[in-house]
Amino acid sequence: MGNWERNVRRVVPYVPGEQPVRTDIIKLNTNENPYPPSPKVREAMERMDFDRLRRYPAVDTEPLRSAIADRYGLNPGQVFVGVGSDDVLAMCFMTFFQSDRPILFPDITYSFYDVWAELFRIPYRQIPLDDNYEIRTEDYRTENGGIVFPNPNAPTGRLLPVRTAEEIIRNSPDSVVIVDEAYIDFGGESVLPLLEKYDNLLIVQTFSKSRSLAGMRIGYAFGSEKMIRYLEDVKYSFNSYTMNMAALQLGTAAVSDEAYFRQTVERIIATRERTAVRLRNLGYIVPESAANFLFVSHPELDIGKLFEDLKEAGIYVRYWKKPRLDNHLRITVGTDGEMDRLAEFLQNYRQN
Ligand code: PMP
Repeated sequence: MGNWERNVRRVVPYVPGEQPVRTDIIKLNTNENPYPPSPKVREAMERMDFDRLRRYPAVDTEPLRSAIADRYGLNPGQVFVGVGSDDVLAMCFMTFFQSDRPILFPDITYSFYDVWAELFRIPYRQIPLDDNYEIRTEDYRTENGGIVFPNPNAPTGRLLPVRTAEEIIRNSPDSVVIVDEAYIDFGGESVLPLLEKYDNLLIVQTFSKSRSLAGMRIGYAFGSEKMIRYLEDVKYSFNSYTMNMAALQLGTAAVSDEAYFRQTVERIIATRERTAVRLRNLGYIVPESAANFLFVSHPELDIGKLFEDLKEAGIYVRYWKKPRLDNHLRITVGTDGEMDRLAEFLQNYRQN
C-alpha cells in the first residue's frame, strides 16, 4: 500500500443546515427567504437564450456587476461578484489575510470563518462575545492580520450601529476589515458610506437572503478599486468563469426590482417582530434581532431535546452542540403561517 495519504490536506468541513427531501417540512434552519424571487426573475428566466449556453459566460460578471454597482451608487470597479458570499468570503480570506499575525473574529459567529482559516492556514484568534452575546469593539484593538465579523452577527442577530463598527475599522488601518452584511437588509444600516473614508474596508453581501436567490449562488463585495483588483487577480488565478450565465441574468433581474425587494423584506421584519412577541409570551428568551432569524433560549427547557422534538414534528431549526450555544436555537423567520405552526407547537410543548 502506498503512502499517498501523507500528502492529503485534511480539513474538518463546514456543515450547512440540512436540506430535507420531504416537502412537508417547515424549514426554518438555513435562513432562506420564505417568499419566491421577484416575478422579474421569472420573466428573465423565460427570456433566457438556450443556444447561448454553448458559450462561456462573461468573465467580468457583467451585466450583474454594473447592476449591483448602480443600485448602490458605486463604480463597477468597486464591486466583485462571486458564487454566493461563501465564495466571495473564501476569496477574500485568500487575498487579504496573508499576514503571519492572527486574524480576529468573534467566538460565536458564522462557523465558516474558522474553516476557511484552517483551509488556507491563516492563524486566527476567536474573540469572546460579552455575556450579552455582543461584540466588544475594544477587544479588536490589538495587533492582527485582519478582522472579519458579520453585521448583524449570526447566529445572534445582534447589530452593531455604523458608528460602533467604524471603531473596529478605524483602529486597524494596517489590516483589511471585512464586514459580512449577509443579513443587513433586515433592519440594519450598512457601513457602505464608510467606504470613502477607509481604504481597509471590505463589505460582503448576498442575494441568498433578502433577494430569495440562495439557489442561484450570488454574492458580492464592495471595496476600493485597488482592493477589488487584488481580489480579481486571485479569482482569475483560481477559476475565470465562476458565475454561470443564468446567475448573471437572473441576478440582474432581481436587483432591478426594488419594490419587490422592499416588500418582502418588510414582510419578514413584521413576521419576525410578531413571532418574537409571541415566543416571549410563551416564556422564551428572544433578544432583539436585526436579521431574518431569531436567537431563542429558555430558562428551563433542555434546548437540545426541544430541537429534536421540533424535528420530529417536521419543524427544522438550527442547533449547535457547542459551549455557550447549546442552550439556543436559531430559528429562521418563515411566513406568518409557518411561524404560527411553530408557536402552536411550542404552546402545547411539555418536557418532563
Ligand atoms: N455569511 C453569513 C453570516 C451567513 O450566515 C451566510 C449563510 N450561510 C453566508 C455568509 C453565506 O451565504 P451565501 O453563500 O448563500 O451568500
